[in-house]
Amino acid sequence: MNQLVGGIEAGGTKFNCAIGTAPGDLRAETRIATTMPAETIRAVIEFFRAQPRVDAIGIGSFGPIDRARGLITTTPKPGWANTDLAGAIQRALVVPVVFDTDVNIAALGEHTWGAARGLDNFIYLTIGTGIGGGGKINGKLLHGLIHPEMGHIRIPHDWNDDPFPGCCPFHGDCLEGLASGPAIEKRWGHHAENLARDHRAWKLQARYLAHALANLICAFSPERIIVGGGLMQQIDLLPMIQTQTRELLNGYIHAPEILERIAEYIVAPELGNRAGVLGAIALAQHIVALKA
Ligand code: ADP
Ligand code: ZN
Repeated sequence: MNQLVGGIEAGGTKFNCAIGTAPGDLRAETRIATTMPAETIRAVIEFFRAQPRVDAIGIGSFGPIDRARGLITTTPKPGWANTDLAGAIQRALVVPVVFDTDVNIAALGEHTWGAARGLDNFIYLTIGTGIGGGGKINGKLLHGLIHPEMGHIRIPHDWNDDPFPGCCPFHGDCLEGLASGPAIEKRWGHHAENLARDHRAWKLQARYLAHALANLICAFSPERIIVGGGLMQQIDLLPMIQTQTRELLNGYIHAPEILERIAEYIVAPELGNRAGVLGAIALAQHIVALKA
């Protein structure tokens, strides 16, 4: 697993690109603002053209995506619906390209080098501009019909306590509609990073996320859940989510990981905000190994 490969974390605000072989051996890295597809993809291609040749490129993208065809599909992000991201890069650079969701590659990064090492069943959630989840079950990245959309599950919404209707353009008050960065901004009128630590927004946020985690634990039985994304920089959130998730499960899931060691069970990403780009590198190395 030491081939020189490229990785791209394609996000709604920025594309993180790198070449390298491992976390301690990234030879070049760049961040490109996500503007319109043609301009953004051109800048990505220029970055890779200026680097030594790589054996493959892994891409983890915001979605929804069509993994087999390498497309971003029904995104509401202006200009990006039906973008042939993997194809454009593969044709321009003439290298094998492998494509998956942003959260699955972050999960793969954590599995290869971070908080999910050695686990066959785990979930990686990101709480940022969007909410998404990926991970492995029985040792395989979660795919299925399309791919999981854990940000769009429904959770209890007490309209008296929280009259905000939610901001998901598809579902209103799904999890992302209630607990993403834009939801916080619209509900409280401030960017999340500008809300005081004792603002009541955070208690509500922790409750929504704990409901989501309890649901995911019941549905998937993960051995660990990794929670990343910009909103988790509010350092009080993780301990509040740990406590409330355990309380919501109410002793029913009889595992010491939940009953006694919740702080090691619901954790931050070890690779921090580099999980995505490193996971893209791990994904690229997998296909090089498969072809060898
Ligand atoms: P994306 O989903 O676009 O990749 P991020 O995961 O970086 O984005 O998350 C962006 C969100 O994180 C924004 O809504 C922003 O308000 C929020 N955020 C950034 N810094 C902080 C902070 N220190 N505390 C709480 N929220 C933050
Ligand atoms: Zn939704």
